[in-house]
Amino acid sequence: MPEVYNWQLGRPMEYPYREAHPREQFAFVFNINRCIACQTCTMACKSTWTFSKGQEYMWWNNVETKPYGGYPQFWDTRLLELLDGAHQKAGREAVWDASKKEPKTRPYGVFDGMTVFEAARAADRRDAVALGYEPTDLEWRFPNIYEDTATGSKDRRDSLNLEPAALPEHATWFFYLQRLCNHCTYPACLAACPRRAIYKRGEDGIVLIDQKRCRGYRKCVAACPYKKPMFRATTRVSEKCIACYPRIEGKDALTQGEPMETRCMAACVGKIRMQGLVGIGADGAWAEQRDNPLYFLVKVEKVALPLYPQFGTEPNGYYIPPRWVPRAYLRQMFGPGVDEAIERYTRPSRELLAVLQLFRASQTVIFRYEIVQGPKVFETTVDGRKWEMYNDTVIGYGRSGKEVARVTVEEPRFVRADKHYNSI
Ligand code: SF4
Ligand code: SF4
Ligand code: SF4
Repeated sequence: MPEVYNWQLGRPMEYPYREAHPREQFAFVFNINRCIACQTCTMACKSTWTFSKGQEYMWWNNVETKPYGGYPQFWDTRLLELLDGAHQKAGREAVWDASKKEPKTRPYGVFDGMTVFEAARAADRRDAVALGYEPTDLEWRFPNIYEDTATGSKDRRDSLNLEPAALPEHATWFFYLQRLCNHCTYPACLAACPRRAIYKRGEDGIVLIDQKRCRGYRKCVAACPYKKPMFRATTRVSEKCIACYPRIEGKDALTQGEPMETRCMAACVGKIRMQGLVGIGADGAWAEQRDNPLYFLVKVEKVALPLYPQFGTEPNGYYIPPRWVPRAYLRQMFGPGVDEAIERYTRPSRELLAVLQLFRASQTVIFRYEIVQGPKVFETTVDGRKWEMYNDTVIGYGRSGKEVARVTVEEPRFVRADKHYNSI
């Protein structure tokens, strides 16, 4: 099997196809700390793409409550168990070596364990290129099971913990996890398809299922560790998130030819989502674009982390982890970068605070930002250290260089004039 370089794992890994990369990659950052689980994103996708017969159970975008919720039910715990079994059988452990960190090629250190591809090969699974499973009909039944269900007391799991909660970790906790297809660099769905019906576009890295080539074998459903391809019984073929590609291509009149953020991103009420396109070099590494907001958040500040990087598909969705959740759980979900990411988010740098204001400031994809410095407006102590806040202005530019967003760190306050009192 050929080897490809996975920078999230800090090492080469086995993958059925040779290394080939798009010119740009569709990517997104979600700030879990801000999500209110209103499901506006979910309904924006459903009302646009999956409202037809046979698509009733399809939630290309879903927001689930962790740790117990999941769509399909148990999707991540089932795969973690399968991976754990494969490691035990091979007499191996899945561990990260943080001492081998290198900022550009190994930002989280090196993963010493088996990905879904390597685990399938180690098990000599001739029927599958990636370790996985096909969820049962029952597991697809509830799009939002265990909504808002928190963990219980430490001593008695079925009862409430009455201790007061305080950072850095709450004893009783839950959080919302927003999910869609990660348009992975090394998609397991694509690798598993015997019909070669799944492809990754050279212009933007979006992963699509060719509806004419697909024969509904559902190998992609079994192989995708994130369980994002879904089978449609009425057409007998599989479907998945298409990254709203007409919007990315700038086909929507609103943005006059500029790439536009997808429906689920643009609709986000909690302003937790930012989506964009990052430049990719011939070697697959992100081209250095310090003033691209996604590059800054993922590569410079390292405040946003991939979801289950150990699965090995190099997902292109990144998450700012929730501050209050036990770190061991977060490290399992987002890898070893969790502590640094939370530390940076809790005491944000002046630049990070400004860039965070760009979330949902525009429907046009922001390719570059600039900051105009403003006065100091606040001072406090965070984790025993002094922290200052400045009312900087951050300006976002679209692909053409046109200004598409201008926001300040402090939200402006507008006071209604007296003459408008009781005017309705
Ligand atoms: S998340 Fe799943 S469906 Fe999407 S590209 Fe990755 S492997 Fe394929
Ligand atoms: S990117 Fe578009 S197709 Fe994909 S989940 Fe979001 S709204 Fe749905
Ligand atoms: S719209 Fe935004 S805030 Fe609401 S559930 Fe979706 S991601 Fe969360």
